[in-house]
Amino acid sequence: MTREAEISAKLREVEGRIAAAAIRAGRNRNEIQLIVVTKNFPLSDAQILYDLGMRAFGENRDQEGSLKSEQLPSDITWHFQGQVQSRKIKSIASWADSVHSLDSLDHARKFSSYQEGKLRTFFIQVNLEPLRVDRGGVSSEELEPLLEAIYSQTQVRPIGLMAVAPAQVEPQRAFAQMQEIRSRLLASFPELTALSLGMSGDFEAAIAAGATHLRIGSSILGSRVLPA
Ligand SMILES: *Cc1c(COP(=O)(O)O)cnc(C)c1O
Repeated sequence: MTREAEISAKLREVEGRIAAAAIRAGRNRNEIQLIVVTKNFPLSDAQILYDLGMRAFGENRDQEGSLKSEQLPSDITWHFQGQVQSRKIKSIASWADSVHSLDSLDHARKFSSYQEGKLRTFFIQVNLEPLRVDRGGVSSEELEPLLEAIYSQTQVRPIGLMAVAPAQVEPQRAFAQMQEIRSRLLASFPELTALSLGMSGDFEAAIAAGATHLRIGSSILGSRVLPA
């Protein structure tokens, strides 16, 4: 089987599962965006996905995303979803159309200085494992003060929240927590409607919980050779 045929078959299978999960949840498929996570996969795979009609790709590293975005057509939307490092923000802002992993006022200020009229979208990453600070994201309690500061002090306008379900809890529980957090925040921040939830192992549960953006890699592209 060619790589094209392999990716095409897996993409169709994932698309089918997304459509079925949307129907089960009584949701419109059109309100759910599939972002294919191309991190650690070669440019040629991203090109195949482009030829299959995909236009939204996710990357975790600045250098890799920057290289791929330079070499692929310009009508692709690039989503940065790795941990943001302050010194990389200028470069990330040069290629990423969307940042899913914003978690500090300082970083929002830096992104704000590189907005230059660009309609970049932002998600605030929520850390659902308060004991693990190495993962990025803010705790539920930190969200309101952070959002207030971002809205009042920067040009950055978050459209929603992002989270990765912790490995040791049921994704349903983690995603239900995110739904509650979103409902709570919507009272003060009505623009925070998006939910970036769901990866290869848990995207159906994410759709049931109201996810608007799915970040799926290995179910479509296979196992990564390199570590994530
Ligand atoms: C790698 C990664 C994904 C995709 O994971 P898969 O299990 O390959 O689907 C999604 N979100 C984030 C933040 C990631 O780092």
